[in-house]
Amino acid sequence: MSHSSEAVSPAHLLRQEILSLHGYHVQPSPGMVKLDAMENPYSLPEEIRTEIALAVANAAINRYPDADAQSLKKSIKAVSGLPAEIEVLLGNGSDEIIQLLAMAVAKPGATLMSVEPSFVMYKMIATFTGMNYLGVPLTDDFALDLPAMLAAIKQHQPALIFLAYPNNPTGNLFDATAIEQIIAASNGLVVVDEAYYAFASDSFLPQLGRYANLLVMRTFSKLGMAGLRLGFLAGSKIWLAQLEKLRLPYNVGVLTQAVAEILLQHHETLLQQAEQIKRDRTWLFERLVGTVDVHAYPSAANFILFRLPHAAMVFEGLKQRGVLIKKLDGGHPALLDCLRVTVGTAEENELFIKALQESIHQFA
Ligand code: PMP
Repeated sequence: MSHSSEAVSPAHLLRQEILSLHGYHVQPSPGMVKLDAMENPYSLPEEIRTEIALAVANAAINRYPDADAQSLKKSIKAVSGLPAEIEVLLGNGSDEIIQLLAMAVAKPGATLMSVEPSFVMYKMIATFTGMNYLGVPLTDDFALDLPAMLAAIKQHQPALIFLAYPNNPTGNLFDATAIEQIIAASNGLVVVDEAYYAFASDSFLPQLGRYANLLVMRTFSKLGMAGLRLGFLAGSKIWLAQLEKLRLPYNVGVLTQAVAEILLQHHETLLQQAEQIKRDRTWLFERLVGTVDVHAYPSAANFILFRLPHAAMVFEGLKQRGVLIKKLDGGHPALLDCLRVTVGTAEENELFIKALQESIHQFA
């Protein structure tokens, strides 16, 4: 006998917090100048593409991947300059690592803390895993509010703290001394999320040995491998041996392992692309600053946050002109009238600036 549809409906079966969630929205982008997702805009040189083609042709896709990804981990440690005593855990993107960390500490009543505005997945994953979430507001200029952070740590004893360094969507590097004070004050794990490390002037990797509760997370998505889905967590064996138990077997596929390894052998090429992106970031920032009514925030990442009147309409105007960026307006009160543009190629950046000026003019 079949159940009545009401008895097995999502409304009856699913957790209320899941029913209330708005899923992570990805905008359709075919045919657009795509400056919404912090991707590296450059394709790879012909020789590297040929090397990849050969590796893919020879990959044993009938077999499960190397579950420990030994060889890839070795390459990651080498290019990241990690000392021998630091371990790495690989994720299917760093999103997966955020989830794994939350699952590991999600005792009843445990709290995940971050700042706001920041990367929205911290809060979403706290919800997925049944954790309490605490987002401490940044100051008006998007700096850490250290006294508020320290007070929140004391009061809520978060099991897990995420700090994006540089921060998304604001683009700035927080004060490193303030982060160290947060690490020192916390009895939980502090994860410095360095998704944008390739465009920044500072890193917490060298600090790993100094703090027992510090972990550093990175992704290769922004460096030119967004399509491969590969991120890693670096830290001491004491933590990583436990966290490894939660990693699903074979979470990094044969093709990702094979292709990422080739790309890491050409790490220099990717870093040169990142250097070009940094130079173009300066160009783009100057154009934004020079645009009437636009307030642009300095960035240590491969994107720039800016605020302007009628942001939602300007965003639509850009879309009509074939340029897709990210609308943050409406997502968080501190991001009222804010948009975020990823640094593209010089040509894409010019198209964006032209479309922006036309759109602003249209709604002025
Ligand atoms: N951390 C931050 C701060 C991010 O901005 C992003 C991507 N937008 C991620 C983590 C996740 O990246 P991925 O899953 O592609 O590794």
